This record gives sequence, structure tokens and C-alpha cells, in this order.
Amino acid sequence: MNALPPRPDRAFPAAQRGLPATDGLTEAERGRILAKAALFPPPPQEDAEGRRDLVGLSREELAAEMAAIGEKPFRAKQLWHWIYHQGARDFAAMTTIAKPLQAKLAERFTVGRPGVTTEQTSTDGTRKWLFGFRDAQQVETVYIPEEEEGEIARGAVCISTQVGCTLSCTFCHTGTQKLVRNLGAAEIVGQFMAARDSYGEWPTPKGEEGRALSNIVVMGMGEPLYNYENVAKALTIIMDHEGIGLSRRRITLSTSGVVPMMDKCGAELGVNLAVSLHAVTDELRNEIVPLNRKYPIAEVLDACRRYPGASNARRITFEYIMLRGINDSEAEARELVRLIRGIPAKVNLIPFNPWPGSPYQTSKPEAVRRFSEIVNAAGYSAPIRRPRGRDILAACGQLKTASERARRSEA
Ligand code: SAH
Ligand code: SF4
Repeated sequence: MNALPPRPDRAFPAAQRGLPATDGLTEAERGRILAKAALFPPPPQEDAEGRRDLVGLSREELAAEMAAIGEKPFRAKQLWHWIYHQGARDFAAMTTIAKPLQAKLAERFTVGRPGVTTEQTSTDGTRKWLFGFRDAQQVETVYIPEEEEGEIARGAVCISTQVGCTLSCTFCHTGTQKLVRNLGAAEIVGQFMAARDSYGEWPTPKGEEGRALSNIVVMGMGEPLYNYENVAKALTIIMDHEGIGLSRRRITLSTSGVVPMMDKCGAELGVNLAVSLHAVTDELRNEIVPLNRKYPIAEVLDACRRYPGASNARRITFEYIMLRGINDSEAEARELVRLIRGIPAKVNLIPFNPWPGSPYQTSKPEAVRRFSEIVNAAGYSAPIRRPRGRDILAACGQLKTASERARRSEA
């Protein structure tokens, strides 16, 4: 489809944006993926009294709710501002709305948040929440601050998109939990809003500077591109300028390589892309990222080459988990560089975070350093991700397990 890799210093021409011309096969496959996602829906966003949650509705849906109760479209705009700019959770706080209408709204609607099952803050400032939803399912969300001169300058909120995961990457704890269901848009946006509640970051700060919760990484539990519609809806709400207004440049979505949906994500959302590569041969990747049997390395890399906006300013991130004696040799570092040549990219080296019963060990620091040097020498930035929040088990899937274990041992 796009046989010639672009030069690393050149952005894709605008004509290549939008969904690339695809054969019917890819389109059919996208249809199958979306249909399968619909089989694991979130519960209805209504409370016991039948009041509907306004969080997670698109602007059009919000306007339709207003029309249904005989209110003018501008009410939807007002509500949007109160919900996503001001962070109001109570209609009574919405002072530009007259009291009788506040009461009418409160009878029919809520402005929801996920329940906070636990909140822990690490000695290094990482904060982690276990959020619970209407059906008592739970996911994890983590905030990782970056400190500058002792002050939190900025930081990323890592959000989850599914309860469990259909894929079963061998190093990932979430992969041992089968997919329970997809999260809805309200539950995805709600994680970020609840994190902002926790830091009191309302109303939404003007512009993008000065936000402690300045970035989002969609790298928590689940495969976001297997829950595309809810993820897309949530991110569209988060990017809306009259609300939270986080730009697509500050959002990074991580995928294990769902090729047909990578194109769709690039065309429709244009957020930064991270790809969980983790291995340089199909043989090994088939084993540790089983999705590779469907979408092998070459196809994943082609999709990266097609990804819009892939330029030096907006590089693709390749995630590479360092597993001792499995994928961490110098030869593999050299092969990695050869594979990604031509793709404007950086490589995130992630020391494996062991979990009880996990079959791997973390690479020796010396191996990680050598690997990083080789990738660096080839002109790619290859930061070694510092383990954060070790004391609160801030690795993928671990807090949830720990709390379930505690519950089981209490029972
Ligand atoms: N499903 C998506 C996004 C969620 S997983 C994906 O696979 O990209 C996000 C990242 O968490 C992945 O890159 C994965 O490598 C990392 N991860 C999973 N288990 C880990 C572990 N035990 N230690 C360190 N990183 C882990
Ligand atoms: Fe799922 Fe990502 Fe974990 Fe693989 S690494 S099992 S895709 S959450």
C-alpha cells in the first residue's frame, strides 16, 4: 500500500491524511472488530432512580436530551461548559441556569463520576486510583507527575479502556484477566475528571500551560483499539475546546498493534500513537504478543509509516519491555533499529515489572543501558522508563489484584 518509507525528516503530505485507500478486506475487518466490541457493552448510564448521566454524551446527544425535555439547544452549550470547563457535579452550582430548570435537570439527570474504591499516593508522587463503576467492575488509573524544582509542573494520567483484555500478552497482568467488558465513554472521561477532582484542577486552566494533569496516556488496562467507539467518543469530549480542551498532541494512545484500527485512529482522532512492539522477530512476538499472529511486525510497521502526522515533531513511540534473556540482547537492539528505520520514532524501554507468578525477570540494568545506547547511537531517543510508584504497585493490573487478594483473604 505504501511501500516507500517516508524520509524521517519529512511529514506526510496532507493528501495522505484521512483513511488511506483500503481494499474491501480491511474495511470488512474494521466492521468485524467494531461488531465484536459491541458484544461487551458498558451498563446503561442511569442511576437507580432512572436519572441519566450527562457525562460521556456527545454534544449532539446532549442537545437531543435537552430537546426531549423541551429546552433550547443553547442549554446543551451551557451544560457542556459547567460539566467540562467548570467541573460542576451538582446542578445547583450551575449559576447561569435558573433555579426551576436546575431542579428539573436534577430530577432527570446526574453529572457522574466513577466511585473511588481506593486512592494511594506513592512517596515519589505517583497517585493511583482504583475506580468502581455502576456494575461494581473496577479499573485502575494512575497519575505520574513530572517534578521541576520540587514543584509539579506537568504530568500524565494513564487511563484504562477495558475491564480485562481479550489479548493475552505473556508479560502483562491484565492479559491474565479475560475481558469482562468495555468501558463506556462516560467511564473513560470519568477517570480523567475524577483525577482532576482529586487535584482540584477545576475550572479547566486556560491554555495548556500550568496544568498539573497536562497529558493523557491511554495505556492502562485493556486494548483501546478493541473498544474504539467508546474511546473515540471519550477522547473527542476531552479534546473539545469549550470543555477540557486537551489537544491531541497531549494525548497518546497505546496499542498492541490492531492494524486496521490504527488507520482509523489516525484519520479520525490524530492523537499520538504508541505501539507495543516488544520483540523484533515474528517468532518471539507471536509468543509474547499473540496478536502478532494476526498482524505481524511488518504490517504493524507499515501502519506506523502511514500514520498521519508522523514527523520528527510528532514521533511514534515504540514501547519495548525489557525481559531478561528474552528480548534484551545487543543483536536485538540492532535489529530494532533496522526495522524502524525511516519511521520518525522514539523507543521507550520499559523495565519489566514482575507480578506474582509472572514468568519473566527484569533485564539487568547493564543490558538495558547497552540496548539504549545502541538505539540512541542510531539516532533514536531511547529513554529508560523509570519505575514509578513501586511502593503502591503502580504496574498495570497490580493494585486491582492486590485489593482482590485482600478481599478474598478477609472473606
Ligand atoms: N493494550 C495496549 C495498552 C495497554 S498495555 C498495549 O498493549 O499497548 C500498556 C503498556 O503496559 C504496554 O506497552 C505494556 O508493555 C505495558 N506493560 C504491561 N505489563 C507490564 C509489566 N508487567 N511491566 C511493565 N510494563 C508492562
Ligand atoms: Fe492487553 Fe496491552 Fe496487556 Fe497485551 S499488554 S494483554 S494488549 S493490556
